[in-house]
Amino acid sequence: MKFVDAHVHLSDEEYAEDLDEIIAEAKKSNVVALVSNSMDLETSVGSLKLSERYPGMVYAALGVHPWNVQNLTDAELKRVEELISEERARKNKALVAIGEIGLDYKYTRVWDKQLMVFNEMLNLAEKLDLPVIIHSRGTTSQIVDMLPSFNLKKVLLHWFSHPLSALKKALEHGYYITEGPPTAYSNGIREVVRRTPLTNLLTETDGPVRYWKNPFKGKRTTPAFIPTVVKAVAEVKGLEVEEVAAQIVKNFEAFFRVKLN
Ligand SMILES: [Zn+2]
Repeated sequence: MKFVDAHVHLSDEEYAEDLDEIIAEAKKSNVVALVSNSMDLETSVGSLKLSERYPGMVYAALGVHPWNVQNLTDAELKRVEELISEERARKNKALVAIGEIGLDYKYTRVWDKQLMVFNEMLNLAEKLDLPVIIHSRGTTSQIVDMLPSFNLKKVLLHWFSHPLSALKKALEHGYYITEGPPTAYSNGIREVVRRTPLTNLLTETDGPVRYWKNPFKGKRTTPAFIPTVVKAVAEVKGLEVEEVAAQIVKNFEAFFRVKLN
């Protein structure tokens, strides 16, 4: 059986000390690929470096997260955009998406700037024909309504929680959803998984985000959590774990346009 982590922040400094160990552990758990999502320029450069250090195992998503918009300078935004364009121009196969980008309603004091940056990132994704990985806390309905005005071929809504009306619309547009460790314990997330066709679902850890409920309590979040997430998805779907794992690997390949070993 093979597993994938479509959303983890591997270039986060929390992981910097023991990357080899984390990758080895992931492989031991049969996690065969992961997408290192980025927050800003520094972590975008970091994600790219990791994709070179662990070829075929680590893929990179580059971008500016809404949490980092407040201190973002025009020069940094421009440099992130250049970096994405340059890597795309040299046909770097490890660059698989623009992410993590989006809007977060908790940070309304920088609302206009969030919108500006998100728009820039979506325009770039459209221009370079790259998939997008979206953070939409408190903004899911708004984002699902604004996305059709862009010509985006692949959209992934990460950690989709609510509302279910936006889930319905998202699925009608063919968007993908990622869910992670909460699938094992949250009824709300399990309901989202229940309503999402398996062909539109991907698994994630969002590490280093920590989970405070069992079976994850007290543990550092790494891609090695993924088999537990897939088991929870299989439980919700009433399917065999093998079948779910195989479909999610297929989804990963289709969404990110890669072929896994
Ligand atoms: Zn994230």
